[in-house]
Amino acid sequence: MKRKCSKCELEKSEDEFYQTERTQRCKECRNATARLWYRANREKRIAQTTEYHKAHPEQVKATRDRFYKTDHSKRYFAEWQRRFRREQPERAQAIDSRRNQKEGRKQQFRLKAYRRRNQTVGSFTSEQFKMKWEMAGECCVYCNEPLAFKDATRDHKKPLILGGLNFIANIAPACRSCNSRKGAKYENSLVPST
Ligand SMILES: [Zn+2]
Ligand SMILES: [Zn+2]
Repeated sequence: MKRKCSKCELEKSEDEFYQTERTQRCKECRNATARLWYRANREKRIAQTTEYHKAHPEQVKATRDRFYKTDHSKRYFAEWQRRFRREQPERAQAIDSRRNQKEGRKQQFRLKAYRRRNQTVGSFTSEQFKMKWEMAGECCVYCNEPLAFKDATRDHKKPLILGGLNFIANIAPACRSCNSRKGAKYENSLVPST
């Protein structure tokens, strides 16, 4: 059985019309209108959606779960992604590399934190550190410039990353610039004076 579209006036089969709608326009014409409308009202539509999402987070989540977890939509999105990669390889690549960069940074951060956690042996008190600072003449042990206590960083003479301990014997007051200059180097480039 054929039906005539009120817009393009072509005779089309039933499955080229949305069955749930009263409109007499075929899917193609209807979607074209919707697209045009969307393009003309994009900002407004996005604002509306954002507002709705903020106002009904639970509902949105439920709908999303219901929709995205069906086999049909999984297939649909996989297909959509494949098409996107095929048709717009540059954009797909840009998205990938942004994601990789972000992941890489996260990974590095995690690794550093892990090392710090696992190589830190020992502890000291803030009074002990204050004594160290006084013993150093209230100066940075590397550049010997006067150093206020509040600006003194707790430098590990032998860096933790190279197996240094977190006991007071391995701690020296350093100014921020010497500490960051030293970093994880311990090759006599900066020898503490005390
Ligand atoms: Zn039509
Ligand atoms: Zn210094």
